[in-house]
Amino acid sequence: MSTVALSLGSNLGDRLHLIRKAVFLIRSAGLVVLASSDVFETSPWGMEDQPRFLNACVLAETSLSPEELLDLLKGMEDAIGRTPEKRWGPRTIDIDILFYDGLSIRSDRLTVPHREMARRTFVLLPLAQVAPEWRHPETGLTPEEMFRLLPTAEAGGILRICTL
Ligand code: ADP
Ligand code: MG
Repeated sequence: MSTVALSLGSNLGDRLHLIRKAVFLIRSAGLVVLASSDVFETSPWGMEDQPRFLNACVLAETSLSPEELLDLLKGMEDAIGRTPEKRWGPRTIDIDILFYDGLSIRSDRLTVPHREMARRTFVLLPLAQVAPEWRHPETGLTPEEMFRLLPTAEAGGILRICTL
């Protein structure tokens, strides 16, 4: 069994419902959810002229390999109704692998830990709630330590909305 952290994001449609639906599908696929974060509302990142995002994180156990897990998550995005969208653009649901145990993976399809993790408040805050002790295999930093290294401006614009 491996422990993984997954990030969930949505900025189109009934965002909270879509994120909760994703967690339901994750459980239905046999992953054991060990912890779930609060849901945060955050300003768009990358492409700024778009609706605000809801973001959350779950910690889960799985026997799937990283590639099998990615295939499963992509299938869930399709099932929930995601159509091909612009990079960083509006999306009904985005499910990313934040970490897979302490592995560092770099392949055509997969970068683990997630390549943008250390730059994104909306990933680091919920991740700190579900995996405060986890350390990035390349930097040795915990989510909170990465968060503290971000410029102060990045730490604003994020609101706790509710529990997942
Ligand atoms: P993004 O998540 O960057 O906004 P997408 O969800 O469309 O954009 O992902 C694009 C591709 O990123 C996926 O098809 C997948 O192959 C690749 N990818 C690389 N690393 C990861 C990861 N850690 N989690 C999920 N997808 C990843
Ligand atoms: Mg993605």
